[in-house]
Amino acid sequence: MSDDRVVVALDVGGTGMKCALVRPDGVVVGTERHPTDAARGPAAVVGTILDVAGGLADKARADGLTPIAVGIAVPGVVDEARGVAVWSANVGFRDVPLRDLTVQRLGLPTALGHDVRVGGLAEARLGAGRGTGHVLFVAIGTGIAAAHVVDGTAAVGAHGAAGEIGHILVRPDGPRCGCGRPGCLEAVASAAAIGRRYAELAGDTADAPATAAEVADRAAAGEPLAGQVWQEAIEALADGLASGQALFDVATIVLGGGLAQAGDRLLTPLRAALHERMTFHREPQLVAAALGDEAGCLGAALLALDAVGVRDHQEKR
Ligand SMILES: [Zn+2]
Repeated sequence: MSDDRVVVALDVGGTGMKCALVRPDGVVVGTERHPTDAARGPAAVVGTILDVAGGLADKARADGLTPIAVGIAVPGVVDEARGVAVWSANVGFRDVPLRDLTVQRLGLPTALGHDVRVGGLAEARLGAGRGTGHVLFVAIGTGIAAAHVVDGTAAVGAHGAAGEIGHILVRPDGPRCGCGRPGCLEAVASAAAIGRRYAELAGDTADAPATAAEVADRAAAGEPLAGQVWQEAIEALADGLASGQALFDVATIVLGGGLAQAGDRLLTPLRAALHERMTFHREPQLVAAALGDEAGCLGAALLALDAVGVRDHQEKR
């Protein structure tokens, strides 16, 4: 059957927007990238989002395709039911009714989603968690956040705040988290926290201290201090993931975000540490994300397709 339908998908981050036209079968037929330039303020960013979405819809029509819906992923706190970008530290949104603004401008059904939740949706349905039904996607970068996806739907929570695994308490006497409380997982084991901890123990006051990736490299090369810092982070992550598994009993945990690029340097010791923590719980598969930085855009597309009741992606075949 020929199908000329596409959805317009945007993944809006603090520095850039990844945009695509995506077919109902999950195939991407065109991509664009645009700067967010958040320093211009939220009103200007919203203007760019609407311009870019409108431009993609026009491009689709010019190519003989039919845009049927729009999906937009944004960071921060997102009220998906009302389509409102409630709060975002790095884009500056405060109660922006982005869904309604997009509907008004483009005349197309629109879905608004949270960047990590839609990334998890894409990994669960099209990526590393495909075919396993129950997936916990954990993005480890500057912070740590998760999405629990069951049969292709990501839990949003009663207040739009499901998945904040980064704020599970893992070290009561640990460093203070950005949220204000000491000892959160994110304050101990995010990529940023690993870099900070290493600099602190090394007495490193350089302007550009070692990144988490460099700590992983130095640990692999046998540097004792890096090895200690890396292992501390692994143990804390295992504690957090074990809590996640106790709550959700998933088949697969997919690790994404910058830290997952450490590959087996992360996965191998983390699998062992998680295994040690399993008592009666079934051990999940622990795998690296497969979609890279396209996950958010693909997830936004899935959200748009779901919004108009079109679900014939690859995972159903
Ligand atoms: Zn916290």
